[in-house]
Amino acid sequence: MVFDIVIIGMGPAGATFARLLPQSFKTAVIDRKSLHDEEGTFRKPCGGLLSPDAQKILAKFNLTLPKEILVTPQIFAVKTIDIKSKITTYYQRFYLNMDRHKFDMWLASLIDKEVKIFEKTVCKNIIRDKDLFKITIISGGKEEIIYSKYIVGADGSNSMTRKLFFKKKIRQYVAIQQWFKEKHPVPFYSSIFDETITDCYAWSDSKDGYFILGAALSAKNCRKKFEQLKEKLKDLGYKLSEPVLTECCLVSRPASPFQFAVADKGVFLIGEAAGFISPSSLEGISYAMNSAFQLYKVFTANTKHPEKAYRRRTLKIRFTLILKLIKSIFMYCPPLRRIIIKSGIFSIEMNKNRD
Ligand SMILES: Cc1cc2nc3c(=O)[nH]c(=O)nc-3n(C[C@H](O)[C@H](O)[C@H](O)COP(=O)(O)OP(=O)(O)OC[C@H]3O[C@@H](n4cnc5c(N)ncnc54)[C@H](O)[C@@H]3O)c2cc1C
Repeated sequence: MVFDIVIIGMGPAGATFARLLPQSFKTAVIDRKSLHDEEGTFRKPCGGLLSPDAQKILAKFNLTLPKEILVTPQIFAVKTIDIKSKITTYYQRFYLNMDRHKFDMWLASLIDKEVKIFEKTVCKNIIRDKDLFKITIISGGKEEIIYSKYIVGADGSNSMTRKLFFKKKIRQYVAIQQWFKEKHPVPFYSSIFDETITDCYAWSDSKDGYFILGAALSAKNCRKKFEQLKEKLKDLGYKLSEPVLTECCLVSRPASPFQFAVADKGVFLIGEAAGFISPSSLEGISYAMNSAFQLYKVFTANTKHPEKAYRRRTLKIRFTLILKLIKSIFMYCPPLRRIIIKSGIFSIEMNKNRD
């Protein structure tokens, strides 16, 4: 089988790109997850918060979110804790709290029937073969070869496409999330900072009767650090009983503008594979959908140099992420962060009776 475009990965980036491409392109998408929500198949560990930027992109696509994707409760503030200084402040937030897996399934359901979807299929290797790419895929234990003119790597943080075709490394963390039965009297979001645990951050969320604690940790001793974090949070009143689920994956966090990898000789990266994720909040869904949109614009403009055009079209995304990198300097420098939190700037004055 020969395609014009093969997309590796059907998360927000890959599913958006596959949905937007016109039928004139013979397109295929490959993903290891099932489209039929089967137990035991891949689910992306995620906080599942849809940021205002991501909402704006859905608005741009004229898409409305089905209510089944939303979870209970919707929360309007984030409790920000600096553990060492014991300072807590609340900031207003405008996220939509959703079921991330249902969101991915919904985006995939919008892809045109003409697009060939290889679900429950792993992309094992890609090599250049004359003017085409030779892609080895495995499904149900069976190996198959398909060919494509272009490759779009939408395969997330642990991108095989990026490793095969781009030399640029990117800073990465191990993201661990644990789910507990929700026992707090009032559900809340929190952002937790503790430089003895991580130079990134930890977070909590509440979804449909479960409390989720997550943290982005450097790989060394990450499980031990996560347990230490839990002990510290228990002392602060967090109700963390026996976990019902533990999930883990890599998360990218660009540390410099040189860590973005975008396009080269027929290979294009979109979403987190390109490094498009906020280094300050680890919010990545909006950048995944936006970069997919920019690449769609390039392919439908019929340009002679699509790599160059895509590099140009992603300049704004990269510039926004560099601004987030600058914001990170303040957020992740403990003395500066403490001054900002203590100052109460942009914070909400909470009713004293509230936890
Ligand atoms: C714990 C955690 C919490 C987060 N919370 C939030 C949040 O609340 N809000 C937010 O906006 N962002 C959040 N992010 C970031 C966000 O999840 C990602 O940036 C976003 O999912 C990137 O989308 P993507 O489509 O580029 O990649 P992904 O969503 O990672 O999708 C990649 C897809 O590629 C598939 N794939 C990869 N390799 C292969 C292969 N070899 N063969 C077949 N299939 C393959 C995977 O199955 C997957 O479906 C969080 C990240 C983590 C880790």
